[in-house]
This record gives sequence, structure tokens and C-alpha cells, in this order.
Amino acid sequence: MKNIIFIAAPAAGKGTVSKKLVDEYGYLHISTGDLLREVIATGSELGIEIDRIISSGNLVPDDLIFRLIEERIQADDAKNGYILDGFPRNIRQAMGYEEILKRLNKELGIVIELDVPKSILRDRVVGRMLCRECSSIHNILTGEFTPIKEGICNNCGGELYKRGDDNEESFNARYATYLEKTKPLIDYYQDKGCLYKVTGTKAPEVLKSVEVLLND
Ligand code: AMP
Repeated sequence: MKNIIFIAAPAAGKGTVSKKLVDEYGYLHISTGDLLREVIATGSELGIEIDRIISSGNLVPDDLIFRLIEERIQADDAKNGYILDGFPRNIRQAMGYEEILKRLNKELGIVIELDVPKSILRDRVVGRMLCRECSSIHNILTGEFTPIKEGICNNCGGELYKRGDDNEESFNARYATYLEKTKPLIDYYQDKGCLYKVTGTKAPEVLKSVEVLLND
């Protein structure tokens, strides 16, 4: 299976599409945001520092991200193909990643840009609620999986919570960071001939377009 890199603004649906690809094709999903939140959850000094950076909408230092990625893609469960969600986030990370791949004798695969209008992204972020038990994503603004009972997961009855960075101010900062740092990656990968663009706001149609690319 081809490795996949998703390039997309916050809440464009990388996580949702990735989950489907994991369930249906057996991909490993590697989200640098999730890896960082695992470090935060340990309560270590490093975790506290990462939490501060993430909450401000800025990017965590590249070298820490390289360490997390290099370790994760070498694990046994990454052998059959993996999805990078949230990495690389800037040109320096893209170049560092190529060095890691060369060292490990691995292929880049394909890069998929998910293109979603800003106003939809804003509502997805500001209205997003996650389940503490099963991690399923709900939304109180967009009509996409609205909680039937306030604060309670539709799937398993677990408690819903908001991520620390899912608010208007942080969204604006993250979106600005995306435009400034991550969007240039689109030209970078286009020049390398491995970029594909998928437009759409509904998960099933986005998934279908991605599947076409994977089976090409
Ligand atoms: P995400 O879950 O992908 O939206 O990531 C949440 C936050 O984690 C981002 O706003 C960044 O602060 C940080 N983060 C995630 N991935 C990276 C990365 N590749 N480089 C630097 N910071 C990252």
C-alpha cells in the first residue's frame, strides 16, 4: 500500500478519512497531534511545555516532531503502509522527512490535499466535542453528528469534552499558521509530481475520491 500524507487545514477531515482507511485497508494512522497529546497526558515537564505551545496555536519544534515520527514509522505495524496526519507541517519538516525516509529505505507515497472552505472549518473546530471513552467526534454547530443528549456521546454514552485548542481564537491562529507554514507544501509536492487534490465536505465523497487515488 502507498504511504499517504494528508495536507489540510485544521478540521478538514484528515482524521475522519484516515479512520476509514485504517478500518477498511489496514493502514496505520500516525497523527502527530495525537502523539503530542500523549506526551501532554503524561504530565511531564515536556508535556506542559507542549501544551502551552499547542494552546497558543503555534507549532511544536521540528526536532521533537522528527524524533516522534522516526520512531513511529519504524514500528512493525507501520510496515504495510501508514497515513501521516499533521506531518509535515512546513517545508523544513518535509525536507527532514525525506532524509528520514532515505535512512530507513522507505517510500514517500502520495500526498493528498484536502480542500475545504474556511467557514466550514471554523464551525467544525468551534463546535467540536470528543468522547472521553471512544474518541468519536461530535459537533454542536454543523449538524455533523450532533449529540442527542447534551454532553453525552451518541455512540457509547461516554462524557464529551472539548480539546483545549478547539476555540475561535486558537482556530484563527491555527488557520493563519496553516496558510503561512503548511500551504507552501502544496507547491513543494506539486513540483515533485506526487500531489493530488480532493475537494469536498462530506466524508463519504472525500473517501471515495481518496480511494480512486489509492487504486490508481
Ligand atoms: P492537530 O491534531 O494535527 O490539529 O495538531 C494539534 C497541534 O499540535 C497543532 O496546532 C500544533 O501545535 C501541534 N502539531 C501537530 N503536528 C505538528 C507538527 N508536525 N509540527 C509541529 N507542531 C505540530
